[in-house]
Amino acid sequence: MAATRKPLEKYRRIVIKIGSALLVERKSGLKKTWLDAMCADIAALKSKGVEVLVVSSGAIALGRTVLNLPAGVLKLEESQAAAAVGQIALARAWSESLSSDQIIAGQILLTLGDTEERRRYLNARATINQLLKLGSVPIINENDTVATTEIRYGDNDRLAARVATMVGADLLVLLSDIDGLYTAPPHLDPEARFLETIAEITPEIEAMAGGAASELSRGGMRTKIDAGKIATTSGCAMIIASGKPEHPLKAIEAGARSSWFAPSGSPVTARKTWIAGQLLPAGSVTIDAGAEAALRSGKSLLPAGVRQVTGSFSRGDTIAIVGATGREIARGLAGYDADEARQIAGKKSAEIGVILGYAGRAAMVHRDDMVMTAPAGKRTEDARAGEDEGKGKLHA
Ligand code: GLU
Repeated sequence: MAATRKPLEKYRRIVIKIGSALLVERKSGLKKTWLDAMCADIAALKSKGVEVLVVSSGAIALGRTVLNLPAGVLKLEESQAAAAVGQIALARAWSESLSSDQIIAGQILLTLGDTEERRRYLNARATINQLLKLGSVPIINENDTVATTEIRYGDNDRLAARVATMVGADLLVLLSDIDGLYTAPPHLDPEARFLETIAEITPEIEAMAGGAASELSRGGMRTKIDAGKIATTSGCAMIIASGKPEHPLKAIEAGARSSWFAPSGSPVTARKTWIAGQLLPAGSVTIDAGAEAALRSGKSLLPAGVRQVTGSFSRGDTIAIVGATGREIARGLAGYDADEARQIAGKKSAEIGVILGYAGRAAMVHRDDMVMTAPAGKRTEDARAGEDEGKGKLHA
């Protein structure tokens, strides 16, 4: 599907992610004039019948300014305390600014489990949908006061993508100090080219995402591309644009530089959307080329095609399915515990009963529980370099 630009009012439900640096100034705190202008843009969209959700960063940045904490990296308990102070001020600011446009704001603070555990996911989704039904604008952030280093989204780009897929949004707008995707980091490479439309997130596109993040915001281009993968797989378009102009949404409409990512041509079911966007797969299985071809033609993953099993997962957990070239190609719910999966990897389905002592299911991952997360294509050296950079992150 072509990543054609269209007026924002043509979308039905838009999630707007706002980076910390746009809302908070290190010394003076909240940028009220910018926020008021942003809220006017939101009001303009809403008056045309578009539902809007905001994922707002800035709690920690604002809290550290209010508390006068020194510059530099904060300890976990310091950032939790900063978030406690900052979030209350942030929510008040949103609520006040939106109310001058006759819009009621509702605050939603999410922890990782709220989107990763199916029951909690459905619950959070119901609350957000209810807020939208009542005409309110949900203002969403990670619940940083209770998030720990291990159990957190860590960046609001992926959180926003998760929210967008959760509520079935058709557009995700990532506003930060970056105006879009370049073939290389523009401040390092004078040859860097700007990419206006991205039809598909290929390994080459992934390789273009550097790792950089500023002190105020955690996400760099890497997390934005990860967000793009989550969003586009479930049929949601994505825009990366600069939020620096005073009316950022109006600026996009007026043709300001921005990168547009096309939604996948074949959106998957709501349950598969949840599987595809899981941030913390419990393990992975590496499969051979024959199995990859079978998966791409819509078949289930059989034990015979599995080469290697990594991690400790239980039946029903989400696992990543890695192709022979080392790249993740799909996600799915494991049909077996990791220990059992190791025993039957590479074996014919008919042998399962003898090996495990009971007649298990034929598939390691059933096709109804599986979603392809990467397009077929040749892997390049550049792509490999890009993937290595992302190692050690939550989703790796
Ligand atoms: N949740 C963090 C905050 O509100 C921001 C995370 C990010 O910068 O992406 O301070």
